[in-house]
Amino acid sequence: MNDVEENCRRVVERIHTAAARSGRSGEAVRLIAVTKFVSPEKIRRAAALGITHIGENRLQEALTKRDSLRDLDLTWHFIGHLQTNKARKVIENFDWIQSVDRLDLAEKLDQQAHRRIPVLIEVKLHDEPSKSGMPAGELQDFLPRVTGLKNLEVRGFMAVPPYSDIAEESRPYFRRLRELGVLFGLPELSMGMSHDFEIAIEEGATMVRIGTALFGSRQSTP
Ligand SMILES: *Cc1c(COP(=O)(O)O)cnc(C)c1O
Repeated sequence: MNDVEENCRRVVERIHTAAARSGRSGEAVRLIAVTKFVSPEKIRRAAALGITHIGENRLQEALTKRDSLRDLDLTWHFIGHLQTNKARKVIENFDWIQSVDRLDLAEKLDQQAHRRIPVLIEVKLHDEPSKSGMPAGELQDFLPRVTGLKNLEVRGFMAVPPYSDIAEESRPYFRRLRELGVLFGLPELSMGMSHDFEIAIEEGATMVRIGTALFGSRQSTP
């Protein structure tokens, strides 16, 4: 599992195969390498193979790594729970924000941005307690308010289904997210992680967020 190059090749191949099953090209699915607890050196090895979209969910850790990787042309996605008081730092250092899940955060991001920034709305598709994600039932009211903000460009949805060892159990959640995308006319769907990304792709994912399948298991969990 420590062979980053071999892992990267294998994941890319699996993405292409799953995309073909959904009648799409592998190019239609963007691989976001999730690099929490991953060293800059390993990120470089993935980048050398063309994996240049990076997902981080911990701001401070991301900033340190970003600094040591400045020479690379990477695209940074913020994918973690975001406190409103961190909005400015995230705007300054990330290219995409995938975890917009409430109005005060959206407004704060909009105020701090001095350019249009692509965002995804993180949707909560289950009833389990979790600190992030907007309940699907609230999107109808929420979306027009966010699309009205001048600097946020709402491109789609992101979701994390409840964890299950059985990947197939994620499928109904992925399907639900795709239906919401169709309903609201938003093209991007960020869904699927190491254990269930092929199912997410079959259900229409346009971005998959993959950590352990690329870099091996993490020392500690977030
Ligand atoms: C850690 C994380 C991932 C990647 O998880 P893996 O199981 O390591 O692939 C994806 N999305 C989010 C929001 C994460 O925090």
